[in-house]
Amino acid sequence: MPASNLVDRHGRRIDYLRVSVTDRCDLRCRYCMSEHMTFLPRDQLMGRSEISAIVERFIARGVRKVRITGGEPLVRRDILELLRDLGAHVGMGLEELTLTTNGTQLARYAAGLRSAGVKRINVSLDTCDPDIFRQITRRGDLDKVLQGLAAAKESGLAVKINMVVLKGLNDAEVPEMLRWCGVQGFDLSLIETMPLGAVDEDRVDRFVPLTAILERLSAAFDLVRDAHRTSGPARYWRSPWGTRLGLISPLTANFCDGCNRVRLTTEGKLYMCLGHEDAVDLRQALRQDGVQGLDAAIDYALANKPARHQFQIQRGSAPAVARHMSVTGG
Ligand code: SAM
Ligand code: SF4
Repeated sequence: MPASNLVDRHGRRIDYLRVSVTDRCDLRCRYCMSEHMTFLPRDQLMGRSEISAIVERFIARGVRKVRITGGEPLVRRDILELLRDLGAHVGMGLEELTLTTNGTQLARYAAGLRSAGVKRINVSLDTCDPDIFRQITRRGDLDKVLQGLAAAKESGLAVKINMVVLKGLNDAEVPEMLRWCGVQGFDLSLIETMPLGAVDEDRVDRFVPLTAILERLSAAFDLVRDAHRTSGPARYWRSPWGTRLGLISPLTANFCDGCNRVRLTTEGKLYMCLGHEDAVDLRQALRQDGVQGLDAAIDYALANKPARHQFQIQRGSAPAVARHMSVTGG
């Protein structure tokens, strides 16, 4: 297997690619989107063959993990075909193909995901209370997600729950979510709300530093620090049920020094950092100059990967970056 030649100018090896396959979504989570979002015209989304060509080039150059995300990836009609294309590389250069989903369509897709080569998924679920769920997602039906989670378990998919902690909405529920996830056998990652894209409220009002949550959880549960580290921004603990608790706190702890990832949008633009506006158009490079052009564009992108994000949450200030998380993928 060829060694990765994807190293940025800060000496960080890039072996993780996140791919947003659509900016559309069937939910409108308050911290992620505004109520009335304008989505890209469908003809601007990359086709399945273009996505596969770009991802395959990254795999050939040393990417070992690919996460499919969005928007909501399961609202894309050819999602299973795309996953099957990419799943063919698992064990042949690619070590892991995984997906982040809101779970609303998981009951229909879980078995297909598993047979396409996906073994683990992240499911975003900020609450187990149906009313709060509707309030946060502005339209979601919690039952559908719970049915999806049951189907995921049945299909043998390992599940991690992503929970964005929001003051006055679900912060009081974190201990119960940890317990519920433990009983279900799901890992849980808690996430600080990040200043990406305009939403209809000031994120300052909802921001909870995860340090405060950790104090509360440590008082209620016997949590053991877990040495497990990825190159991502999470720190980990073991819960009394043996499941893993992760804290993703980009605002109160910075782990950019070990960053190993880049993000491809559904329009074919490569973002080198979630917290910066700079992007390189890989689709155009591929269309104009084929694989050589694509390689040159990837090299240029890596040479320009910023050292770190500059996220801050301040009352009344514009989001750190104008685009929403649904464009770059979580
Ligand atoms: N629709 C899928 C889902 O919700 O899992 C995938 C895309 S979503 C953008 C990926 C992750 O980003 C989710 O876990 C979501 O909670 C998180 N997210 C979205 N906007 C965020 C924000 N402003 N701050 C922190 N996390 C955010
Ligand atoms: Fe949709 Fe995911 Fe954003 Fe919620 S967090 S609106 S499910 S893209």
